[in-house]
Amino acid sequence: MKKIVETDIVIIGGGIAGLWLLNRLRQIGYSVILLESKALGAGQTNKSQGIIHGGVKYALQGMMTVAAEAIAEMPKIWNECLHGKGVIDLSEVPILSEHQYLWSTGSLASKIATFFASMSLKGNVQELKRDDFPLIFQNPQFKGQVYSLDEIVIDVLALVRELVKPNQDVIFKIDPLQDEQLIFNAQGQLTSLEIQAEPIEPIHVKAEKYIFTAGAGNESLLASLKNKGIAMQRRPLHMVVAKTGFSQTLYAHCLGLSSTPRITITTHKTEEGEFVWYIGGQIAEEGIKRDSQEQIEATKKELMELFPWLDFSKTEFATFFVDRAEPLQPDGTRPESCYAKEVENVIAAWPTKLALAPKLADEIIAILNRDNVKKELADLRLLRAWPIPALAKPVWDELL
Ligand SMILES: Cc1cc2nc3c(=O)[nH]c(=O)nc-3n(C[C@H](O)[C@H](O)[C@H](O)COP(=O)(O)OP(=O)(O)OC[C@H]3O[C@@H](n4cnc5c(N)ncnc54)[C@H](O)[C@@H]3O)c2cc1C
Repeated sequence: MKKIVETDIVIIGGGIAGLWLLNRLRQIGYSVILLESKALGAGQTNKSQGIIHGGVKYALQGMMTVAAEAIAEMPKIWNECLHGKGVIDLSEVPILSEHQYLWSTGSLASKIATFFASMSLKGNVQELKRDDFPLIFQNPQFKGQVYSLDEIVIDVLALVRELVKPNQDVIFKIDPLQDEQLIFNAQGQLTSLEIQAEPIEPIHVKAEKYIFTAGAGNESLLASLKNKGIAMQRRPLHMVVAKTGFSQTLYAHCLGLSSTPRITITTHKTEEGEFVWYIGGQIAEEGIKRDSQEQIEATKKELMELFPWLDFSKTEFATFFVDRAEPLQPDGTRPESCYAKEVENVIAAWPTKLALAPKLADEIIAILNRDNVKKELADLRLLRAWPIPALAKPVWDELL
């Protein structure tokens, strides 16, 4: 006889989207379980630079875009949570930097000043006096300008840990779901998931709503729905990790000529306590055409040009490719905001930015309210023996 567990909601995928949502749904009384096939945070989330964008990066086109507006509220929401006063208590999550900085090289300094003076986000951007520059820019060879943005940078793996902590009783490790494990009725509604985790006997999980927050994994889950108008796109990056040996930290975008920062650097600590620069931005977008060695050479060249006073000869580099998984856009560009769409009793969702996870959860809650999804107590005894997934490791610890 089939073993069946019934719950209000099943979330598939334990990245930032699934974990934030799990916390919010349980707070408001839903019975929820979250299923993860690898490690918690192991998709894009542990590769994120942890910047809680407020939209300045998106406003670099010189106007207030929809994307900039959508994300503008996020720093406030996150700040409240990080100070224990928000919708989720994240007071144990370290803030790596209170600001992300934006710097321009000498030749672009006047362009940037005119730009910020004219834009509507200027309240979130502060031009710094030389004495207030981050230490790394205090070298006489630096001729550019530095701005401080109202964008905090957080420790993403600590964030995952804190979101998991109160929910360990409802998070389960499963083997990746195959097509035949999603069971549909004649009307095309998903009626149950047959989950397994070798060597445990399969269990059927029935829910009123199934929420796909599996990042890139949503693509194959959606394929089993026989595609009902939701499609995914991938925008690849070739990221770089650099163990510099420097003692100063850096959290900054370099303004280039395009709307994507020329380079975006955040600083993190390895397990051994050494600082690494984690490098994205345009160099990571363009780097998808390069192999790892070429990407390292290109990054070294860029760093030497931007920081001629620093010595990178002993820096240890590593690179990796990762896809940003998002709802398909007609022109394949970045979506303006987070995305949640319902098909029958499935909601497929992508935050498109870690920073947008709170907004995504609010949008999903609005769908559940509109659909009058019931709140009932679930009996999860059959799942008691199921393993909980491990927490993902930081990429720099895996690579260096
Ligand atoms: C290099 C990089 C840097 C970034 N930096 C930033 C930044 O600084 N700030 C910002 O706001 N955003 C940033 N982003 C974007 C942000 O990281 C993503 O938007 C966000 O992490 C996506 O979260 P998610 O939960 O949707 O997906 P993911 O983090 O990919 O999580 C999906 C989870 O689902 C699991 N899964 C997949 N398939 C299945 C299945 N069939 N069954 C069960 N589980 C499954 C995966 O193992 C994974 O754990 C960055 C993205 C990248 C790639």
